[in-house]
Amino acid sequence: MNVQPSLIVHGGAGTFDEDLQQPSREGVRTAAMLGWEMLNEGRSALDVVEQAVRFLEDDPAFDSGRGSFLTASGVVEVDALIMDGLTLRYGAVAAVRRVANAVSLARLLIDHPEHSLLVSEGAVEFAKHVGFPLVDEEALIVERELLRWRGAQSDAAAGMFKGHDTVGAVARDRDGNIAVATSTGGTFNKLPGRVGDSPLIGCGGFADNMLGGASATGVGEDLMKIVACKTACDFMGTLLNAQEAAQRTIQRLEEPRITGLGGVICIDPAGGTGFAYNTPHMARAYYQPDGTLIVGL
Ligand code: ASP
Repeated sequence: MNVQPSLIVHGGAGTFDEDLQQPSREGVRTAAMLGWEMLNEGRSALDVVEQAVRFLEDDPAFDSGRGSFLTASGVVEVDALIMDGLTLRYGAVAAVRRVANAVSLARLLIDHPEHSLLVSEGAVEFAKHVGFPLVDEEALIVERELLRWRGAQSDAAAGMFKGHDTVGAVARDRDGNIAVATSTGGTFNKLPGRVGDSPLIGCGGFADNMLGGASATGVGEDLMKIVACKTACDFMGTLLNAQEAAQRTIQRLEEPRITGLGGVICIDPAGGTGFAYNTPHMARAYYQPDGTLIVGL
């Protein structure tokens, strides 16, 4: 098969502080350009979403990898998921410390399918076992987050769901295979051990070549209630296109029982891209069928 590739990335949904708006736009733009080049070289969707998300994890403008929000105890605990829409294999890690590129640790689990989701110390032990690099806790903490965290110790609401955000990517490669990856430092000032939607299959990400692929961002506690990414994929399975599916998913998040905040990016099996969000901002970048890159916040 030799189909037109598709790619969409996000840098989280929320309220982006003014000083982070331009870096966030640049971050998603560069991640998308990197992924697009790989897709056009014939690389797999799985490689592309991993590399695009790695790039965003390394960019301190986002709440993933270095630059993540701190937990209430002042450390970084990250979550990530990666899924292959051809085989439905996936890997995920949650509440893991000392890992800069959680998406790559999650990817290693795709090749160890007897375990798909590892948390906390167990994920660190697995990383050591397979020789995956661990970093000092301090290497993941940036000054901006340390200051925000200190502020929150006196005012628990300070900075809540503000600033910058989770990252994710959905790609369809030339073979028509779809993959997704999502990575996050979670919510600001979260309790140690708190896990949101991002590393949970169907919630923070889902990919199935037959349905499409989706990556979510926003308040994980609410996105989990609607199993957001499986919901988006199921909408695509009923022949809604990616844009309609994204909108319907956010409508569901807005049900009075939930009143959730968030966003979702999608690719449908025909390669269409779509996104929707109900927060003030969602950093995103995607390619139109004619190869034009669109960046928005
Ligand atoms: N969904 C992520 C979480 O709840 C946070 C985010 O997307 O901003 O951990």
